Amino acid sequence: MKTDKGLVRAKSRKGSADNKAAPAEKRTGRLSEPAACERCGAIFSRRVWRSDRRVTKALLDGITWTRCPACKQASAGEYWGRIVIRGGYALEQEEAIRKRIANVDARAQFTQPERRVVSAERNGAVFEVLTTSQKLAHRIVHELKKAFRGRAAYHWSDDGSLFAVWERD
Ligand SMILES: [Zn+2]
Repeated sequence: MKTDKGLVRAKSRKGSADNKAAPAEKRTGRLSEPAACERCGAIFSRRVWRSDRRVTKALLDGITWTRCPACKQASAGEYWGRIVIRGGYALEQEEAIRKRIANVDARAQFTQPERRVVSAERNGAVFEVLTTSQKLAHRIVHELKKAFRGRAAYHWSDDGSLFAVWERD
């Protein structure tokens, strides 16, 4: 970071009064390390967000508080995976399905906190799940099919987002 001209220029322009304050991300587009997400506690180090790292006191001393990409996405309502669950059997099993989804979500978040379920809502005969990542949506549908059988269909859009349907009558 010391050789980053953008950072040096931004600092000198802003003056020395707030050297320790504003997140470096805003000035340079690169987040200084270590950083932690103020919302979910994920730790950013060696350019990767992880939620399985412990926040030690040594780490806290120099930490930058920010929002991880998943929390930013979640609060903006952005998603790359959309799953529609339908069919009589599927809706009857809503609780079991929710548990299965929560399991897959928890496992994904442990190593890749940027992959998560944004919302899981039932509206009448349709149960809709939104995720920040198309890969997580794909994995959830794969797991639902494995656990409850039924039928799955996947449709990837040009922008890389996934729309998937899992159904069992
Ligand atoms: Zn977060």
